Amino acid sequence: MHKAKILAIHCIDLRFQEMIDKDLQQRSSYGKFDRISIPGASMDFENAQKYALISLQLHNPDEVLIYEHEDCGAYGKENSKDVHKSNAQKLADALMQEKPSLQVHTLIATFNGIQRL
Ligand SMILES: [Zn+2]
Repeated sequence: MHKAKILAIHCIDLRFQEMIDKDLQQRSSYGKFDRISIPGASMDFENAQKYALISLQLHNPDEVLIYEHEDCGAYGKENSKDVHKSNAQKLADALMQEKPSLQVHTLIATFNGIQRL
């Protein structure tokens, strides 16, 4: 089995790709992480969970990074940090239930950089 160090989950939004990529590069490198990109990231709980479980089964990552981002079009008007936080936490909890040793970090990409949620 080829093992991943990290699973990264983030939105499709072009504005935050470079920032997220740089953050991933600081934590790891290409060839060490799986990546799931879906509109709204953890807002789409069912798909995010479904794809993340495939990564867990196939590549057994030790760490999951959930990148929310501000001004997300998929969220529409309900775009507060609290909503991002509760969605990211829900996904984090579901994945930790699947693999209790998993380290999950919930993050938000802002126009001023990446912050913890
Ligand atoms: Zn988005």
